[in-house]
Amino acid sequence: MRFSVRIQDAVKRYGDFYAVNHITLDIEGGEFFTLLGPSGCGKTTLLRMIAGFNEIDGGDIRFGDRRMNDIPPHRRNTGMVFQNYAIFPHLSVADNVAYGLHARSIPAEERTQRTREALALMHIENLADRMPSQLSGGQQQRVALARAIVIRPDVLLMDEPLSNLDAKLRLAMRTNIRGIQKELGITTVYVTHDQEEALAISDRIAVMRDGNVMQVGTPRTVYMHPANAFVADFIGTSNFLAGTVHEASFDVMGRLSFAGGLAGGYRGEVKVSVRPEEVRLTSPEDSSLHGTVKRVTYLGTNEEYEIVLEGGETLLAKVYRTRDVQPYAVGDSVGVSFARDALTLYTPDGKEALS
Ligand code: ATP
Repeated sequence: MRFSVRIQDAVKRYGDFYAVNHITLDIEGGEFFTLLGPSGCGKTTLLRMIAGFNEIDGGDIRFGDRRMNDIPPHRRNTGMVFQNYAIFPHLSVADNVAYGLHARSIPAEERTQRTREALALMHIENLADRMPSQLSGGQQQRVALARAIVIRPDVLLMDEPLSNLDAKLRLAMRTNIRGIQKELGITTVYVTHDQEEALAISDRIAVMRDGNVMQVGTPRTVYMHPANAFVADFIGTSNFLAGTVHEASFDVMGRLSFAGGLAGGYRGEVKVSVRPEEVRLTSPEDSSLHGTVKRVTYLGTNEEYEIVLEGGETLLAKVYRTRDVQPYAVGDSVGVSFARDALTLYTPDGKEALS
């Protein structure tokens, strides 16, 4: 049975402060769903409400059809994995993993069998008899994961589980977590502030800010079609430029003109975003928008250019080089242009996407 998690109008208040401000989310059974946002946006608070560690001040949380608001944490059948592993230091790896099975009075034979399976799934069978102090951080996190899944939870909850691991291990573990989650089909809610990790691991992402949800969508949707300027800026990198919408066209910086007005008849000033990888650099005579290269950063697979436009605005451009592309140097004059599809238009305050 794959349980959906339905969060309806959920509220968590500390005094006058809304850590979770009337949030509604529908997480499908078997889905890998990520709460993503900057520090303090309320993602841990919401995760702890799902787990039952934080009381709910308003709204409902349901697993399937069952209302969970008043069910204590140990009766919700969730598996939890934390940033700091939180495994028991005085128990061996196997005993750590078997702990939840003891608590559920699973008979000894089945306990041994299921513990062995969970260890195998995490590729740590060989560590069964070690103590936690004899393990690396990555191995400890595998133990924590094995312990969470061995109980066959209805919902798996993970709070920044990879933050304490080094960059290479983080990449390997996220592939591993994603693979196991899909294999077992456990509905998973995952908290991270790392947008790249969220894009890589999730079926869908809720982007949060100040206790509110800014956008819910697949990784591709939130990256390609951000609902507002905050999402465009938080997920990946975006350049923001001034534009104006006319009757049947719009311009960027008064220099580049694009045919077609906006649906709904919007006219006037807009904020325009464009990703660095969508900025095209040309020779100055090939575009009516010009700038000067201020900084070049070599990043192996690509080069990042900081361009200062004529009006003083700064623009980041990312260029994936093939061997025969001549790089630009600091001080070079360049032309700048964009494809229409690469531009997203927002209201001037950035709060709402218009296209
Ligand atoms: P981080 O990535 O830094 O963990 P987060 O998005 O998980 O951030 P939360 O831990 O959910 O953020 O906190 C949300 C807000 O609620 C923060 O402003 C925090 O200071 C506040 N908060 C959390 N717990 C309490 C508490 N017990 N009393 C008062 N305020 C709290």
